[in-house]
Amino acid sequence: MPSTRALNAPTPGAPFEPTTIERRELRDDDVAIDIAFAGICHSDIHQVREEWSEGIFPMVPGHEIAGTVTAVGPDVERFSVGDRVGVGCFVDSCGECEYCQAGEEQYCTKGVVVTYNGRHYDGEPTYGGYSQAIVVKDRFVVTIPDSIELDVAAPLLCAGITTYSPLKRWQAGPGKKVAIVGMGGLGHVAVQIAKAMGAEVTVLSQSLAKEEDGKRFGASGYYATSEKETFKKLRGEFDLILNTVSANLPMDRYLGMLRVGGVMANVGVPSDSDSYHAFSLIGSRRILTGSNVGGLPETQEMLDFCAEHGVAPQIEKIEGSDVDEAYDRVTASDVRYRFVIDVASL
Ligand code: NAP
Ligand code: ZN
Repeated sequence: MPSTRALNAPTPGAPFEPTTIERRELRDDDVAIDIAFAGICHSDIHQVREEWSEGIFPMVPGHEIAGTVTAVGPDVERFSVGDRVGVGCFVDSCGECEYCQAGEEQYCTKGVVVTYNGRHYDGEPTYGGYSQAIVVKDRFVVTIPDSIELDVAAPLLCAGITTYSPLKRWQAGPGKKVAIVGMGGLGHVAVQIAKAMGAEVTVLSQSLAKEEDGKRFGASGYYATSEKETFKKLRGEFDLILNTVSANLPMDRYLGMLRVGGVMANVGVPSDSDSYHAFSLIGSRRILTGSNVGGLPETQEMLDFCAEHGVAPQIEKIEGSDVDEAYDRVTASDVRYRFVIDVASL
């Protein structure tokens, strides 16, 4: 089996160590990829630190993968050697259930196979993008448009699709007031996408420290949630609130900023349960919902949309030896706005 350099967390929360992992031999519908860059998503941190549930260790995280095709199986038609491609949060699904058939593999009834900290259907653990090569079933590979550099493209494979999908579903667009809560990795892409969709965008951040950046990304309003006045001032204001925060929020206050029939979509996944009072929904027929990444056809659509509209993550490129420090900076909300690992450094 082909082996590749990688970075793993040997046990929960332990510092990363360079290692070597095996990738599978190419199957008929497989694409072999030389990884160039892997983004660091806050979900990587939640999983390495077991903030959600027990993880599978050693863990090689990474589900924002950008690279180049080095080989394809005989049944692969969509890709050839040399193509610039991406892999996101999923590497397999049943392909047959109604959700897979609809291109919403993330809701596969058999259970979608996640890119790392998961198991293939044969029971083998999955290892993600903090590595130099990966072999993935062709359905789970997308094309990176020529106008997007690979390092900038990497974060779109999770942060991009995770925000594009609910913004599209809940019709961010002309005439709509959209608030993005938390301007980190997901949030700063969400601001750009919502603006490109034509919505009037407001950022709700803990402080005003990143206001200039938020405006540059396309926001017309920017408020500090540390100020109680903010919630009073914005009562009943928004059609859609997209919550990208990795921690629990006082939900009733946020729901109160929605219009009648407004939607609050959660994509952030704190470790503990959220709570809200029924009146916060009932009083104004509001909708509280969530969204899980996005399917493969929509991921390709999102990449093409970002290329067309010039949506580009603002990244900070780092080496393998910097990952532990990067994790601490992300959890301290000190990220501008996505760390991307140059995997040649592993
Ligand atoms: P991130 O870069 O850390 O961004 C989160 C932002 O939330 C921070 O930059 C900060 O923004 C704000 N924040 C952090 N702690 C806060 C607190 N205690 N109170 C209020 N605001 C706080 O993380 P990310 O990579 O964007 O991921 C965000 C969340 O989405 C994570 O929980 C991740 O697991 C989840 N996620 C979900 C999906 C999905 O499919 N649903 C996919 C990917 C990621 P400000 O400094 O602007 O306040
Ligand atoms: Zn992610």
